[in-house]
Amino acid sequence: MLLKENIPYETEQVNIDVLFEGAPKRMLLSKRKERFIQLWLKIHVFFLTLFHYRSFKKTFEVLAIFQDFKKKAFGKNGKRKFSMKNGKYWFGIHLPPFPSKSFNKYILTELHRYVPHKSPINAFQQVNFAVTTKCPMRCEHCFEWDNLNLHETFAFNQLQEITRVFQNQGLGHISLSGGEPMIRFEEIVKLIGEGDKSTQWWMITSGFNLIEEKAKRLKEAGATGIIVSIDHFNPLAHNRFRGHQDAFSHGIRAVISAGKAKLLVATSVCVTKENANKEFLIKYMVMAKNLGVDFVQWLEPKAEGHYRNRDVELNKDQIQIMEEVFEELSHNPELRDFPPVMYYGYYQRRVGCFSGGKSSFYVDAVGMVHSCPFCHSADFKITDWLEMPSIGREEVSKCELY
Ligand code: SF4
Repeated sequence: MLLKENIPYETEQVNIDVLFEGAPKRMLLSKRKERFIQLWLKIHVFFLTLFHYRSFKKTFEVLAIFQDFKKKAFGKNGKRKFSMKNGKYWFGIHLPPFPSKSFNKYILTELHRYVPHKSPINAFQQVNFAVTTKCPMRCEHCFEWDNLNLHETFAFNQLQEITRVFQNQGLGHISLSGGEPMIRFEEIVKLIGEGDKSTQWWMITSGFNLIEEKAKRLKEAGATGIIVSIDHFNPLAHNRFRGHQDAFSHGIRAVISAGKAKLLVATSVCVTKENANKEFLIKYMVMAKNLGVDFVQWLEPKAEGHYRNRDVELNKDQIQIMEEVFEELSHNPELRDFPPVMYYGYYQRRVGCFSGGKSSFYVDAVGMVHSCPFCHSADFKITDWLEMPSIGREEVSKCELY
């Protein structure tokens, strides 16, 4: 087996055992129940498709294309691991829970790409909205480096107005980022609390000051989950990468607090050249499993922001190692107790980028709209969009990386 449990962490200064105390466990279903959920999902999607296309021929046609896409993008039979939380099944960070109305709309929006239909779809599936320029960290890979700690761009009423427009036009998922969104914690609680709950609300954070009481307030307001950046299992290495002496403690405490508050929790790791090897990935995944997270997100470094003009991109051999470990984690039944991994680089190399400017976009901390955080297209100012009668995919540049 590729992965072994209980590999000791390198601990320096921080006592990991104390820090990890009280971490909730990720719920693991029996194999039988897992197979049942997969079958239920398949039947559900079939009838949903049939109901909206009103034709067996079109249903078989569009589902065959969709299945082909999934096989290419996710490997093997196209099945994805999932997590269960709050009585629902979650097949990805950016997917609404199954079963739900938002999940149906998500699927119908995806199918519309292949064979158009007349039912309502989301204008975009997801937006990553940087709601503040302020941040206490100084990360090596920061893609908001040029905007950090400038004068704040959005007043609270603008955040409300912009997110309301997003939601009215059909947008399934809003990730609030920055800077560090925890800096505007009170306003974020209000924003989510007063916002439309059919949208999934997430926060992308370093975990700064996210204690249990705050995680509970986020959950009560209606937040779905948080993505916490933890870039190493070694506290000092993470702190160095993040340019903050307590980054690791903040991150781990946030993960545990959010788990206890029943928020969905993902950790996000930027796998640098130095770390793109089996040993690192294995140790990282053991840490994530012990923390009980629902998902892990693997990012590849891009020469943007603080990394601009630097030779940071992974080479072919490093990518191959990451892809092998990813396939094993995703499809080896003996590793089903490890959390699902979202690895966008893997999907993109097989089916092209299906996010940047196509199903998602990015609003940076000074209000410019881009294809995604890593493809800076600076198309227009988000406040200009408020004047437009409708928002459409044509206004945002498409990712041309793949
Ligand atoms: S990557 Fe995020 S946490 Fe790090 S400096 Fe940039 S905005 Fe702050």
